[in-house]
Amino acid sequence: MSKDNVLKKQFAEKDVNRLRNLVKGKHANKSQISVGFTKGQEGPHSEGDIWTEADKTWTIKDGIKQNVTKLDVAREAVNFPIFCPSCKKPMKPHLDKKWFSMYKRCFNCQIDFEAAIRREGLWEEYEKTIYNSDIEGIIEKFEMWMNEEIEHNAIQSYITEAGDVEKWTGSVKNKLLESKEEAIKYLQSLKKQ
Ligand SMILES: [Zn+2]
Repeated sequence: MSKDNVLKKQFAEKDVNRLRNLVKGKHANKSQISVGFTKGQEGPHSEGDIWTEADKTWTIKDGIKQNVTKLDVAREAVNFPIFCPSCKKPMKPHLDKKWFSMYKRCFNCQIDFEAAIRREGLWEEYEKTIYNSDIEGIIEKFEMWMNEEIEHNAIQSYITEAGDVEKWTGSVKNKLLESKEEAIKYLQSLKKQ
């Protein structure tokens, strides 16, 4: 491909991605990054690729380059096995996927499990456990998101106003950390005792 054609192709991809972002209401996202060229060292990457760069794992989702936490990768890996880990029977994607993502077993196994729980009079305890672990999951996601926001902002401020780093780490960061703790405390209080 000639240099001109390469340029043309890059422009086309950039424009398509920007359009895609606009349609999805992601105006703030920088569509330049989403072309997938990362300063000439790596790439091009396309939708769904996962790669490591600067000690972080990245992917392109909906045309946007974004950070993947190791936890997400682990989750993806155990997303949907072929056989139910409990009864070892093949799982039916249309029926079992939802159940597996919540309970790590197929629909039939979950029905049996819940029946057993009821028989033993442990239903209330079980419901409480599920409810609380849902809240734990929300807290975990929120904390991860907040930490990345804080880190991202710290880096941004370091790049844009290197002289103000002290100010950032001193006040803004502390305020963000404080509101993070407050929100987590609130979420914890929603748990059933
Ligand atoms: Zn099963």
